[in-house]
Amino acid sequence: MSNAAHHPHPHAVQFPAQERLASGAQYIDGALRPGTSGRTHSVIDPATGAEVYTYELAGTADVDAAVAAAKAAFPGWAGLTPGERSDALHRFAAVLAERAEEFARAESLQCGKPLKLTREFDVPGTVDNAAFFAGAARHLQGQSAGEYSGDHTSYVRREPIGVVGSIAPWNYPLQMAAWKILPAVAAGNTIVLKPAEITPLTSLLFAEAATAAGIPDGVINIVTGTGKEAGEHLVAHPDVAMTSFTGSTAVGKRVAEVATATVKRIHLELGGKAPFVVFDDADLEAAANGAVAGSLINTGQDCTAATRAYVQRPLYDAFVERTKQLMETVRLGDPFAPDTDLGPLISHAQRDRVAAFVERAKSYARIVTGGEAPKNDGAYFQPTLIADAAQDSEVVQSEIFGPVLVVLPFDSDDEGLELANDTPYGLAASAWTRDVFRANRATREIKAGCVWINDHIPIISEMPHGGYKASGFGKDMSSYSFEEYTQVKHVMYDNTAVAAKDWHRTIFGDR
Ligand code: NAD
Repeated sequence: MSNAAHHPHPHAVQFPAQERLASGAQYIDGALRPGTSGRTHSVIDPATGAEVYTYELAGTADVDAAVAAAKAAFPGWAGLTPGERSDALHRFAAVLAERAEEFARAESLQCGKPLKLTREFDVPGTVDNAAFFAGAARHLQGQSAGEYSGDHTSYVRREPIGVVGSIAPWNYPLQMAAWKILPAVAAGNTIVLKPAEITPLTSLLFAEAATAAGIPDGVINIVTGTGKEAGEHLVAHPDVAMTSFTGSTAVGKRVAEVATATVKRIHLELGGKAPFVVFDDADLEAAANGAVAGSLINTGQDCTAATRAYVQRPLYDAFVERTKQLMETVRLGDPFAPDTDLGPLISHAQRDRVAAFVERAKSYARIVTGGEAPKNDGAYFQPTLIADAAQDSEVVQSEIFGPVLVVLPFDSDDEGLELANDTPYGLAASAWTRDVFRANRATREIKAGCVWINDHIPIISEMPHGGYKASGFGKDMSSYSFEEYTQVKHVMYDNTAVAAKDWHRTIFGDR
């Protein structure tokens, strides 16, 4: 089946947890309840356009109730030993693993992700994250205690911040819930998470699984509402001590503005436009495979997706040809069918947005393959390769968030690295070469939070994920995320037991 001849199969819109979630899409103080905004929202299956789940959106009163539950739960949760929190998170990881298939199906349904992606990537990644933070909860590190002044003993306490209010996007709803919630609670905070209103299902199941694992009520709360109403109210809330946000750079700026009014700590994981730099000594087959998989993963709706391939002139034509061939083998289809490689975009609106970028590009660049939306009810778009676009054109500079790769040639190594850095973003990048000096130079000079050599996309719980430049600041995953979710207190004990200290001369003159 080529990607031009797509025939979606109708699949059942029921998902295993549908009956349980009939109680509502707000998970507050350990139970589901309906929102009170007076407005409803329907989750749409993007593969068919069918309604999957309709729920009452959160209003500001629901956010207030969730924050109050998190505030009430904080002293008890923060007061546990790291070992006790670790035990609870180990149990949580086990419940997530037991429910893996339920999570995979709900995530595929609400996002249109192929089941093989949710089964092999989203869900195992989440279970592994829970297991990692269960261990990391017992390894909060700091400077060692010591007599740095000579007359005092100093040490550092690493303390939770309080109630965290987090906001997540729709592209990896389960993994984003995990990345926000797990380090926060491992460090002793409690949390209110607002998922994107179009993809609430797996965040709700995640919170439900936490309760089943024995994590106390109120530690993890989910409010499902719009960004403007529930999101801004959460960010502005005086009882929320910190905001952690993953989403677009435009909304991230607004979140930062709102959070500033109450002097909250902010952690921003924003957009990306990852470069993929292929030097002329690279393994062409490896680079072409990497470019196709790295640009099309999650239908290109990945903040680290390969979006701009810069290929050194001697390999350029062969790379374009091989990438085109490989893209044309990718099978679009029903996310629940085992032979589907690529699902639809998250929504028909997102499909139209991607199509509009490509339509405009037709006037200034060359569509090497793809470029069209198949004619069916789903939000599909063909894998698309664009060549001959100028470096300052919008397909090179803006985040498209669809299955679209732009390829450009370069001559010198200097030029390749300069072009790689030439967007406002700096989330991730890759360089392809067999020369250790070139590889090392690329890792030093590319301004991004992650640089892969001869690969693009893999992430692991032990290593930090986060941006440079307009891609934001702060780290998700890894022990570095504790820098975001803890505050460091310096404690200083006088060791002299002397009433008149030496330094008092600055106040008491020649006494
Ligand atoms: P978005 O910015 O439109 O929305 C993200 C979240 O913010 C949603 O929950 C939304 O409801 C909420 N929101 C919207 N307006 C708000 C407001 N005024 N106040 C508070 N909250 C508000 O992003 P999206 O379209 O859901 O996701 C795609 C974007 O996320 C892309 O730009 C992508 O690069 C980025 N992303 C980044 C990372 C990363 O780790 N850096 C990871 C995944 C996605």
